[in-house]
Amino acid sequence: TGTPLPDIEIARRVRLEPILPLAKARLGLTPEHLVPFGQHRAKLSLELLDELKARPRGRLVVVSAITPTPVGEGKTTACVGLVDALNRLGVPSLACLREPSQGPVFGMKGGAAGGGRAQVVPMEAINLHFNGDFHAVTAAHNLLAALIDNHLYWGNALGIDPERVVWRRVVDLNDRSLRRVTTGPGNGAGHATGFDITAASEVMAILCLAEDLADLQRRLGRMVVAWRADDTPVTAADLQAAGAMAVLLRDALAPNLVQTLEHNPVLIHGGPFANIAHGCSSLMATRAALALGEVVVTEAGFGADQGLEKFIDIKSRQSGIYPDAVVIVCTLRALRFHGGASREAMNTPDRVALERGLGNLVRQVEVARAFGLEPVVALNALASDSANECARLADCCRGLGVSMTVSDHWARGGEGARPLARRVLERLDAGPVRPGVAPLYPDDLPVEQALRTIATRLYGARDIELAPLAQAQLERLTHQGFGTLPVCIARTQFSFSDDPADGGLVTGHLLRVDELKLSAGAGFVVAICGRVMTLPGLPREPAALAMGLDADGNVIGLA
Ligand code: ADP
Ligand code: MG
Repeated sequence: TGTPLPDIEIARRVRLEPILPLAKARLGLTPEHLVPFGQHRAKLSLELLDELKARPRGRLVVVSAITPTPVGEGKTTACVGLVDALNRLGVPSLACLREPSQGPVFGMKGGAAGGGRAQVVPMEAINLHFNGDFHAVTAAHNLLAALIDNHLYWGNALGIDPERVVWRRVVDLNDRSLRRVTTGPGNGAGHATGFDITAASEVMAILCLAEDLADLQRRLGRMVVAWRADDTPVTAADLQAAGAMAVLLRDALAPNLVQTLEHNPVLIHGGPFANIAHGCSSLMATRAALALGEVVVTEAGFGADQGLEKFIDIKSRQSGIYPDAVVIVCTLRALRFHGGASREAMNTPDRVALERGLGNLVRQVEVARAFGLEPVVALNALASDSANECARLADCCRGLGVSMTVSDHWARGGEGARPLARRVLERLDAGPVRPGVAPLYPDDLPVEQALRTIATRLYGARDIELAPLAQAQLERLTHQGFGTLPVCIARTQFSFSDDPADGGLVTGHLLRVDELKLSAGAGFVVAICGRVMTLPGLPREPAALAMGLDADGNVIGLA
């Protein structure tokens, strides 16, 4: 069959449909509902989003995965393939995906708009400053930083403790040299601060959880940016910053409509990382898609223990929108890896490693069940798969009483995901499992108990341990009335613990919580466990080195 074409070549060979006629034919939307960006992408108008709030909702499928390897298990491609297949089966469906961050695009991962025959297009536009949304988040975040420093400069009427400004700055690039910086002396001493990646900004989380413009502005105002010497919080509203931030974010709050290679509608909007943030594309997009289609497919990664957990415990809890089904994507390669195969050897059949690695799948299935969902397992077909290992996986799933199917959308597009789409429809038609889908822990549970519940019930940990810093932060948070917000655990995606080296089978460990960070506007407390890079660095050979423009001005080298 020869070498497969690079993603960008596959994408370029497909003739895109102009977005306005596609929106009309497929979603019944007329041009006044849309704000076009050129021929092939458009934002939904905020007026349309208001109208859609009242429409009956379709059914929601969340695509998550087993614990990943560094090469990715194929959640995004599975979302795209599944939507293409559902539409082939005559079920009007849309996908909701995150916007790629420039950090990984120029760093390790390359593009993040699917791959092979399961892609969203136009991929260059999606991967690079997509309709300005990330830039708007960066600008709004940094405007607030500037307003804080300016407030200190002009006399600090709010009585901020300059040593306890917790609001940092953000940049949408992997640039490790900005992790720790000292701001210049505007008035007297400079301050120690630093940059995070835009995907980690609380503003990004808020953009993804806001119900509308009014809610956006309210949430921005609630963000705690600094503390006073008496331990009281200073908010963005205290600094009168929320209005100007909302002005910068207005257009970015509208979801972006694009298409798959098979011309099915996709909303791409918002991009919090799944390890250092809550990881879901925007609520505005999910709501709109549920009003526009019968089935909506959205991604929640990394593994279900992180992705599905945050989806339900944070996004569903806040919005009332719960998944009706969940797909767990796995690869034999990753199962072998979890079973002990090295990164070099994981592409070679290995029954012993596979057997052990199945333990990871079993645990991620249990995660889905802990939320009241009966998952569908999708084996993302790779060229290196062996028939007898596939059979062993099928066996394992039968033993668990779980529906499992091989999906070949990467090589064959929607056609290759038809069996998966049928399984998902069966699951949806079977209706909810009793007693129904629900968060793992109740709304008013104290932070420490919420952390313990997640760690013991989903991560297989024996307990949690708060470092002294986290303990002190918890006391302050609780004293100020934030002690029962839901938690967003920031930790490695490569294990069930705070250490990637522990791998995908670890149990009985102690989950160490190093730090707690309040995201009062997003409505959660971030628990940082282990080393979590909030501003990644570039690898020795960044993807950027292969990129350029050809003689006609086309982008080359975007994987
Ligand atoms: P995730 O969303 O889980 O990170 P993606 O769907 O983005 O994973 O896939 C990660 C990378 O692997 C992408 O570059 C994608 O094109 C590639 N990929 C996914 N599935 C396959 C497959 N079956 N065969 C070859 N490459 C694949
Ligand atoms: Mg993905």
